[in-house]
Amino acid sequence: MAFELNEKLLNLQPYEPISGEYRIRLDANESFIPPSEELVQSIAQRMAGLKYNRYPDPYAAELCGLFAKFYGIKGELVTAGNGSDELISVIMNAFIQKGDRVICFSPDFSMYEFYSEIVESNCIVLPKNGNLTIDIDEVISEANASGARIIIFSNPCNPTSIGIKRDEVRRLIKNVNSLVVLDEAYMDFYDQSLINEVESYDNLIILRTCSKAVGMAAIRLGFAIANKRLTAALKCVKTPYNVNSVTQAIGCAVFSNPDSIRRAIVRINSSRDLLSEELKKLEKLFPEKLKIIANSANFVYTQVYGAKDMFAYLMKEGIIVRCFGDYLRITAGRNYENLELAASMEKFLSGGGKS
Ligand SMILES: *Cc1c(COP(=O)(O)O)cnc(C)c1O
Repeated sequence: MAFELNEKLLNLQPYEPISGEYRIRLDANESFIPPSEELVQSIAQRMAGLKYNRYPDPYAAELCGLFAKFYGIKGELVTAGNGSDELISVIMNAFIQKGDRVICFSPDFSMYEFYSEIVESNCIVLPKNGNLTIDIDEVISEANASGARIIIFSNPCNPTSIGIKRDEVRRLIKNVNSLVVLDEAYMDFYDQSLINEVESYDNLIILRTCSKAVGMAAIRLGFAIANKRLTAALKCVKTPYNVNSVTQAIGCAVFSNPDSIRRAIVRINSSRDLLSEELKKLEKLFPEKLKIIANSANFVYTQVYGAKDMFAYLMKEGIIVRCFGDYLRITAGRNYENLELAASMEKFLSGGGKS
């Protein structure tokens, strides 16, 4: 007897984030701000009162209400997930049947293609333009010609840090029969959200996460925002107790102090600006070797001559970033981290650093 793995599993690789100890971690787009003492206290209080022997609230109603209040929307339009990653999977499970077309883009967040393949969709990966943008008219024709069920992308984009204007996204939503899944993981750092408009469309789901601006990557918490009909579908398909009581309680503590989230966003934005300024100086010094692509999120995307060698050099210096071909994606860190990174990059570019 022999148990064979099924075909769809054969080409999959387990997700392997960069591991190891680095002095300066600018690789995962996390927040560099740890929770305040006040927040840690309020979490401890909630932990002490938790009913550990009972299942969590399946719909995380208190949490969704607080999240909704923070963004000025209705709680009934929000579904909580075990990270927005889980919600991508729930969306594929809900709306895709075998062979259905899914449109995603390259470069973009790699998990879209991954989850669409697990449900045996027919996934079309559209390459972005030379300037790494999406041509909305092209997407509209491709979606309508192929009868795509889902179009999914991040705005601003991970990894390019390029944002798309609201009007462009609206034009896409209005001109296709596909479900548009708009991943706004980094929208707290940009200003073109459609989170207030989900009720205006029958085909829009917005994803948000607590892993970036909110600074809570450890607790795995994300949200889907959509009209009532789509929200009902998501709530049917998700597993009943997908967000555990500990995460719900911590999430409630976080969103009970909205000013602290707003302050963190201001701080991260100014760190990103400092990082951009430092990289701009390098761009001026080494115009043939380094080019800033965009900085609309909490990270900067740069094209680097010899990106792989620079990546290896930085790693040796104890600084970790992400390398995508000829590009480096650098997360904004603490000021001294941004400055040290820039100093190491300069050393490498001026020939002082051997990889
Ligand atoms: C980081 C990231 C996520 C993951 O969010 P989790 O809530 O941590 O699962 C989703 N989308 C994009 C584009 C991201 O960069």
